[in-house]
Amino acid sequence: MPRAALGALLGLVLAAPGPIHAAAGDAAPVRADIEVRFDPATRELSGRGTWVVAAGHAWRVTLGERFEVQRFLVDGGPDPVATAPAEGLRAWRLPAAPRQRRIEITWRGRLEALDASLDHRAVLTNAAPVTAPRGTFLPAAARWHPVFEGAGLAYRIVIDVPDGQRAIVPGTPAGERIADGRRLQAYTFEQPEPAIDLMAGPYRVTERSHTAADGRKIALRALLHPEIADRGDGDLDAVERYLRLYEDWIGPYPYEAFSVVSSPTPTGFGMPTLTYLGVDVLRLPFIRDTSLGHEVLHNWWGNGVRPDYARGNWSEGLTTFMADYAYREQAGAEAAREMRLAWLRDFVALGSAADRPLSAFTSRTHGAEQVVGYHKAAMVFLMLRDAIGNEAFDRALRAFWREHRGGVASWSDLRAAFETASKQDLRPFFAQWLDRTGAPSLRLAAASAVRDGSRWRVDVELTQSSPAYRLRVPLALQFDGGADDTHWVNFDGERQRFTLHTDRRPAAVTLDPKAYVFRRLAPGEAPPILRQAMLDPATVTVLAGAATTGEALATRFTEHPLQLRAATAPPPSQPLLLVGLASEVDRYLARHGLPRRPPELDATAGTATAWVWTTERRAGAPLTVVAARDESALAALARPLPHYGRQSWLVFDGTTAIARGVWPSRPQRIALAGG
Ligand SMILES: [Zn+2]
Repeated sequence: MPRAALGALLGLVLAAPGPIHAAAGDAAPVRADIEVRFDPATRELSGRGTWVVAAGHAWRVTLGERFEVQRFLVDGGPDPVATAPAEGLRAWRLPAAPRQRRIEITWRGRLEALDASLDHRAVLTNAAPVTAPRGTFLPAAARWHPVFEGAGLAYRIVIDVPDGQRAIVPGTPAGERIADGRRLQAYTFEQPEPAIDLMAGPYRVTERSHTAADGRKIALRALLHPEIADRGDGDLDAVERYLRLYEDWIGPYPYEAFSVVSSPTPTGFGMPTLTYLGVDVLRLPFIRDTSLGHEVLHNWWGNGVRPDYARGNWSEGLTTFMADYAYREQAGAEAAREMRLAWLRDFVALGSAADRPLSAFTSRTHGAEQVVGYHKAAMVFLMLRDAIGNEAFDRALRAFWREHRGGVASWSDLRAAFETASKQDLRPFFAQWLDRTGAPSLRLAAASAVRDGSRWRVDVELTQSSPAYRLRVPLALQFDGGADDTHWVNFDGERQRFTLHTDRRPAAVTLDPKAYVFRRLAPGEAPPILRQAMLDPATVTVLAGAATTGEALATRFTEHPLQLRAATAPPPSQPLLLVGLASEVDRYLARHGLPRRPPELDATAGTATAWVWTTERRAGAPLTVVAARDESALAALARPLPHYGRQSWLVFDGTTAIARGVWPSRPQRIALAGG
């Protein structure tokens, strides 16, 4: 199955990539030799192949209902009878046999026409095999070839397409030739999944050979639509950079090829040995700088070692930590801090109702899952590295790779690798971060400084929510003139006092100002952002004028069912989303004594048609306001607004955000009088 990639970066809300994470490895792999021919113009597909299956297993063979089988021979003998199609599949049962069997199947059918207007979510949920001269995508879930369910698949496939087209599947290129206006391309691969993803298009190919750390030649290719073909070299430069980075960091790249493949729909998928990204997606600047590296790294974490999905998916968190976050660290301390702070703000925005333990994360189905499965998990790896040191951390990763490459591993396998490398018992660390929901709430309760001989002594009291986490917490002492000095303390009680010493007279102490600890930020530390109203199902929506348009906008903007309340009723104590016409919104705010529109939004009033902002209410949860000059200005927000979850406020001119910002965060700080 392809893994959905990049969804959040595109501001898309993703659906699940499908039900199948095959329990491969239990059953013996199936070996297949397949030839498939299709024509994007007529949409006709025909295929034939032989499958060699192990003795002692009963098999269920499936094929998408749109295809029909012309021949089905078992060891040259007559075919078994198919069951009636169900859930879009034809199926055959093969009872267990005492010896290996050879099955020959010939099939054909008509593919669906590609609808290039589909968005990512639609492509993901619509598992139909689609084709057009502009692009073909035959997802494994469509069962476009006969599939022996439940087993890994070792295949050789020859794909026969019109000469102007090129096709690709996960695997190693194994030759290509042109005959009679047709292009035949061969690939070989062994994968843990039972079915194959196939892509084709009018691609221009950029290729080169990369020498891996262990001396093997890796075939790198960019298969791109003509209008973006000139970016192929730049993409492959980036891929080579990422390969070197991760080979150095983890160990040799596990496959013989890697390709960047463009798609006519605005999608993002990752598979072993390739990433399949929309033409317009590839043009986004962060794709080459971040997402491509994330996808390359998945060939180690996710494909090279597969998560034990039933027991939790660690691969997104580790990949996010070693790709997205690592690139921020390379860019500088401030860039890394911004990312950590954004993750902690997102976590506050999630609210407690949508929160779940990290161990329950399997794959991303919506933004709420990303907050835990990607970002909380990445912070867990960051805290782990802070606790055991870079050297032990990296040694553990390399050992984990050596031991589990090509197999399935769980969170506890990862823990074992970190324990061996650090010689520490990490069970409490992993238990508190994986099995508990939520996060600790830390408070800087008191602090004072006194002279202590020639030095200064600072007494600090911290509290945290119950039951206490075992934490390492940075306390920053600030001095006049702006310098500061970080002291890490081990904090594992609900209330604890710490004594710090310093040579200079300290001016203030600040709790974790750079957001190194995964925790629930205090209200002032976490200024409200739009994502809170988007994610927190406790949010109550009030419509103030243009109710039909307002309700449609609120439905599109939020990921949870709307809880509507009349504008005439008193405001709820829950998070409030107020949507409507500016005049009526102002009236509602005034009537209920709620904060007015902040002055930051007035600066660009000249061409503004809509204003969106978050504020904290003196008592109770935050207020999110969407106010438009008129009904059409309100309707214009439907498309852009969901992309701005990380902002605290925006001003729109039609569909364009002409100003925006995040309210500054205020770390917990106590000024030290001292004497
Ligand atoms: Zn990923």
